[in-house]
Amino acid sequence: MLSLSQRALEITPSPTLTIDARAKELKNAGEDVIGFGAGEPDFDTPLHIRKAAQRAIDEGFTRYTPASGIPELKEAICEKLKKDNGLEFEPSQIVVSNGAKHSLDNVFATILNEGDEVVIPAPYWVSYPELVKLNGGTPVILETRRENNFKAGGDELERILTPRTKAFLLNSPGNPIGHVYTKKELENIALLALKHQFYIVSDEIYEKLIYGKSTHISVASLEKELQENTIIVNGVSKSYAMTGWRIGYTASARPIASAMAGIQSHRASNPNSIAQRAALEAISGPQECVEEMRQVFAKRRDYMLDRLDSFPLITPVKPEGAFYIFVDVGETFTKNFRGTAIGDSDNFAATLLEHYRVAIVPGRGFGAPGYARFSYATSFENITRGLDRLEAFLSELA
Ligand code: PMP
Ligand code: GLU
Repeated sequence: MLSLSQRALEITPSPTLTIDARAKELKNAGEDVIGFGAGEPDFDTPLHIRKAAQRAIDEGFTRYTPASGIPELKEAICEKLKKDNGLEFEPSQIVVSNGAKHSLDNVFATILNEGDEVVIPAPYWVSYPELVKLNGGTPVILETRRENNFKAGGDELERILTPRTKAFLLNSPGNPIGHVYTKKELENIALLALKHQFYIVSDEIYEKLIYGKSTHISVASLEKELQENTIIVNGVSKSYAMTGWRIGYTASARPIASAMAGIQSHRASNPNSIAQRAALEAISGPQECVEEMRQVFAKRRDYMLDRLDSFPLITPVKPEGAFYIFVDVGETFTKNFRGTAIGDSDNFAATLLEHYRVAIVPGRGFGAPGYARFSYATSFENITRGLDRLEAFLSELA
């Protein structure tokens, strides 16, 4: 066979989506698998949003739209950014894409030259380094510390900067840790971005999913000047249970937005016209559904955290947002399961799936091989049953 590109050869498929596909496959084959894998709300998309999509179809809103999104959706996004985040943007600064993942791909395609560096604090969401590499950049991984709740932004960030640093990846609330950056922590990052002139790519997709006292602050709102350096990434997948609709967006300085729109016009054209109408209803329609779902997630988080805390051999990190619990499973590595050492978190996850039918994502893809990620975006019943199984597995190990 003729050879593939170096880029294609270097890519590892998304481990979150791989685990999810495997769990769904087993379920479809009639296996009783509990999925704590991919971060996907288990709720149906709220009815008023689905109805807006049905209306779009009935009205024949089924043709190409402007490549970077329909004007009314961009307007609604600007209003949202003003109301929720205190930010002034114009529709020409918004680019609507096929999910926030596509938005991130567009961002890196737009700002990176070959070899430009993007600083990514670890643990990170699995797709960041791969998306940087796919666009010719070099991911520079910044190890964070548990005592800082795995956040970055102090001296260690300044030390890792080089003349090639083009951007810093900020994800708050974060996947997989669930941490939320405070105003002070954001100010530190902002100061460095202005002093050393790099972009902040701010992935705010979990902004509505915060539990406890923390609040979401969009870093761009800290200073007028900073808005030029910040590219906000957001979308409807998580807040509105719309993962399959594929709508994400960016808000950025005008030259960035227009370059990004140009790239998208060739690579993908417009995101789905019907999904754009649905997203318009999600963002500008009634918001009660968001709070209702958040409250359900909050109860699940508390329950899951309490139980994980009580189990032997593992230590969960307390999340303040998103819908994941990242768990230190390192102590299990020296334990034997039916005669074989667990060894690493890949095998921990594989054994749990194989023998106890619980799907979790091992930490390697998040840059934290001693950990594993549990998503609580699944029903309370599944959580209870899945944790019962995990408890049995751990007692077998202990
Ligand atoms: N950012 C983070 C941190 C995520 O966890 C996800 C997961 N889906 C995305 C972006 C991409 O979301 P979307 O479904 O809109 O592509
Ligand atoms: N972002 C979700 C996750 O981390 C969905 C899967 C993906 O897009 O990678 O599980």
